[in-house]
Amino acid sequence: MTSTDSSGALVRAEIDVAALQANAAVLAERLGPARLKCVVKANAYGHGIDIVARGLYAAGWRDFCVATIGEALRLRQILGEDAAIMAWLYGPETDLDAAVAAGIELGVSAVDSLDRLRDAARRVNTTARIHLKVDTGLGRNGLAPADWARALEHLQELDAEAGPVAADSSETGPGLEIVGLMSHYAVADEPERVETGQQTQIFTFAHRELTAVLDGAQGRLGESARLEVHIANSPAALTLSPFPGTAARVGLSLFGLSPLEDQDAQDLGLVPVMRLVSQVVNLKDIPSGHGASYGLTFTAAADTRFALVPGGYGDGIARTASNRAEVSIRGTRYPVVGRIAMDQMIVEVGAGEVAIGDEVVIFGPDGPSAAEWGAWADTINYEIVTRINDRVDRVEVLPQSTDGPGL
Ligand SMILES: *Cc1c(COP(=O)(O)O)cnc(C)c1O
Repeated sequence: MTSTDSSGALVRAEIDVAALQANAAVLAERLGPARLKCVVKANAYGHGIDIVARGLYAAGWRDFCVATIGEALRLRQILGEDAAIMAWLYGPETDLDAAVAAGIELGVSAVDSLDRLRDAARRVNTTARIHLKVDTGLGRNGLAPADWARALEHLQELDAEAGPVAADSSETGPGLEIVGLMSHYAVADEPERVETGQQTQIFTFAHRELTAVLDGAQGRLGESARLEVHIANSPAALTLSPFPGTAARVGLSLFGLSPLEDQDAQDLGLVPVMRLVSQVVNLKDIPSGHGASYGLTFTAAADTRFALVPGGYGDGIARTASNRAEVSIRGTRYPVVGRIAMDQMIVEVGAGEVAIGDEVVIFGPDGPSAAEWGAWADTINYEIVTRINDRVDRVEVLPQSTDGPGL
């Protein structure tokens, strides 16, 4: 394996780009003919946006989603002009001009965002490409039913204000192009629940209504046949059949993690992309009765040995996993004892074969999984990887051979 190192931090997140590319190919295959939209918000779920975006782009992927406009503009810098980038989370004061100018596609969850985006498009002399977002039951972002109806009316008003269709093609139109319809599931990770089907039904109905509006506007608001229709996230992409929509926004599974309770990554044909590693920096004999870490919440039941391992909540490792988590050293699991501190944790290695300098796998394909850490920390694998912060070096593990594009 080839790797590039940077600052020599004690805790490193190895990012397996070949695994990332393979996961994308597996997911795209499962989704086909629907398109894969790669969700890389929150620093690519903690994996590092630069490495992840470049890795996916190199394998041929061109559709990306993030949450915020800041993330979208950063991604545009990394990927250049020919990637489609969309974002959906912004506030009433957020400046939309830069996003529209950079060709970022934006989700619209409020009626007045239509005016704001049209105005932004005029100021930067382009057309704003938007995805209408309808709330089909999650109750989070998206147009609620009454707002949905008003948004459709307002689109027709904007189209009418733009005047009659001019004979020459230089006519600017309403300044908005509806390129997508989107929504988001609430319980797609629980396949037995009825709400997912209900959300799909509402979404299908909204699609029909939007199609009628676009067709009535004679193509100037966008072409209904070219609409990108997307509601599925990772759990929906992995469980729903027939698959709803023409695209899916997939985040977690790209990184080789399972969003499902009863199937792990391997069951799904996915490989974890992040391997979080540290090392043994101190090793000491501990007499029976000795405590461990702040609060002395652990007491050695017999004579034993403690290994000191850099890595704590200052790196994004969950303190709530104290006294429950395990790590792997030379292929053997050992318990984390006492409280996980800001910078370090204590691992009880007993009589195990462990030496100073040994690599410690905190989580990854050859150690505990992010899902196990999620259980130990009373959270989910999503949070375990996303929490890993900038104090940790991201080290790219490059593909061993170049077999060509993953498309
Ligand atoms: C985060 C997010 C996704 C991706 O969800 P995963 O479960 O990680 O695949 C898709 N759509 C929206 C709106 C999101 O916020």
